[in-house]
Amino acid sequence: MRPETLLYPTPKGLFCEAGGFYIDPVHPVDKALITHGHADHARSGHGEVLATRETLEIMAIRYGADFCRRSQEAVLGETMTIGDVTVSFHPAGHVLGSAQIAVSRGGTKIVVSGDYKRRRDPTCLPFEPVPCDVFITEATFGLPVFHHPPDADEVGKLLTSLRQFPERAHLVGAYALGKAQRVIMLLREAGYHEPIYIHGALVKLCDYYLSKGIPLGELRPATVTAKEKPAFAGAVVIGPPSAFADKWARRFPDPIPIFASGWMLVRQRAKQRGVELPIIISDHCDWAELTDTIREIRPGQVWVTHGREEALVRWCELEGIKARPLHLVGYDDEGE
Ligand SMILES: [Zn+2]
Repeated sequence: MRPETLLYPTPKGLFCEAGGFYIDPVHPVDKALITHGHADHARSGHGEVLATRETLEIMAIRYGADFCRRSQEAVLGETMTIGDVTVSFHPAGHVLGSAQIAVSRGGTKIVVSGDYKRRRDPTCLPFEPVPCDVFITEATFGLPVFHHPPDADEVGKLLTSLRQFPERAHLVGAYALGKAQRVIMLLREAGYHEPIYIHGALVKLCDYYLSKGIPLGELRPATVTAKEKPAFAGAVVIGPPSAFADKWARRFPDPIPIFASGWMLVRQRAKQRGVELPIIISDHCDWAELTDTIREIRPGQVWVTHGREEALVRWCELEGIKARPLHLVGYDDEGE
């Protein structure tokens, strides 16, 4: 069957009529297949939700146990039949529990990557290339200028700053799901074994990662009274980016504002946010990783979504791969 009729965009999200389901819908629907737990992809209020166990558990942590009427676990690599289509979930390497979703019918297979990355992440399973007729890729960093340096170099900058400024608190802004835990793991892998202080908004998700056997080390609450102020001198304190604008951030001794994000390679963005030490760590592919992935999978067609579609569409055409932008609404770059 024509891939355009197997999956197509609607105002509620990407729809599979033959299966009667949406993938990562942005409005409540009867049946949703969810790629991962970031808020722009995983919303509450659906009837049925099919997702990996980790994504279901993350949704329950974020929205409460009643985030949908009925949930069903998708086991990675296992094929399921829904209506007239078969679906399977495969690791996406983006955050814990993240999956690509393959949808097949009548000899046509489309893989929806969701958000994904290719470099090693100690907090989740690596991306698995799945042969397909159509590969739907995100393009958050879909321009040749986007190049993410090695993670170890970026974490190295933070460790250097800790040595240079032992009297200052190092306040790291990192998204609550995925990025915060990855930054913690990268610090541990770099030999940093001091307690790491975390904002209250990160506690439940960090506890969840710990319960899944991801060794984040000793984490302490970043609650501070005036009396304790010096205790945070030279400490690493991690909080969600939104916490940096409020009073919470001003309680720490002479804080250095740091932000861990793929966008930190854009100097202007770091400046706008008042970031003193930008750390370029992304949970998305950079340009080389996007194009390497397309070359590796070599799908018949590429549909490009959320991000800078045009450059990647053009690149595919030059490679002899049919490509088009797929305009989906309602996704931001949470987790970036
Ligand atoms: Zn995401």
